Amino acid sequence: MATDVPCDICGCINAVEIPAARIYTGGHPIHVCTGCGLVHCRDRRSSEEIAALWSREIYGAPDGDEKGRGELSAGAMQRYSALTPFVRARHVFVAEMIDQLIGLNGKRVVDVGAGQGEFLRLLRTEYGAQVFGVEPSEVNCGRMQQLGIDNFCGTAEAFAASAASLYEVATIVWTLENCQSCAAVIDATYRSLDDGGHIVVATGSRILVPFKKPLQYFFSNTLPQDTHPFYFSNNTLTGALARAGFEVVHRNRFIDSDYLVLIARKTDRSRPIAWERDDPGAVLDFFDRWHRETQAYYRSM
Ligand SMILES: [Zn+2]
Repeated sequence: MATDVPCDICGCINAVEIPAARIYTGGHPIHVCTGCGLVHCRDRRSSEEIAALWSREIYGAPDGDEKGRGELSAGAMQRYSALTPFVRARHVFVAEMIDQLIGLNGKRVVDVGAGQGEFLRLLRTEYGAQVFGVEPSEVNCGRMQQLGIDNFCGTAEAFAASAASLYEVATIVWTLENCQSCAAVIDATYRSLDDGGHIVVATGSRILVPFKKPLQYFFSNTLPQDTHPFYFSNNTLTGALARAGFEVVHRNRFIDSDYLVLIARKTDRSRPIAWERDDPGAVLDFFDRWHRETQAYYRSM
């Protein structure tokens, strides 16, 4: 039982370690909040340090070795960049969902953690949105500039200090799980939105839904665990939004999708928004079954 670190969503200070997680994380503990079931890494550096590490390790200047650090060439395709086929597919899925449910044409959209700007370019060219990026990597911001996409180079928390009620839609696409404080980033986004504006959060949801991949690809040991401190479920992501004053109005059919996408409306925070907690015991059991299945069938993949 780890104590003293309040849960980012429900504030509970008690959490239970997932026994098998250390096998997949290089020995680093991952915990489940006993109050709401949030799966998270409790030991984290500052938001600036984590943002800098992402900028350096993931989005450094292209160096031509085709290992995916900033490269947008075909050689990086099987690694990770904005042009990797599965990343492009995610972007199209989220863009279509937003457009079909709340509309994008002419909307003022800010993307928090805009990466290489490809998602915003899609929203602008295919859907007619007016786009802006918030991104800590100078290399990425330079690339967005080349694409003609205005941007703020820094963390979401720093951006929020200068941007109030400027946007109708805010997107956080496969980024919220990588922030030092999901609450701080959602609060920053809240301030940047018009009254009644919408936040869109997309992530990979693999908790309390059928397993889609071996556990070693869920808990990765290729980067420090505090670069990916949160593992959301439908309930805990709904709770993270509710805590900040966002009421979920649309969610995708995540049970058989690789994605979890929630669209939530900004309220005036005048009343608490109800949300359902995950049972911590059920979450621990889920990971125990996932671990046993991974060991039995997929360990060598
Ligand atoms: Zn909690």
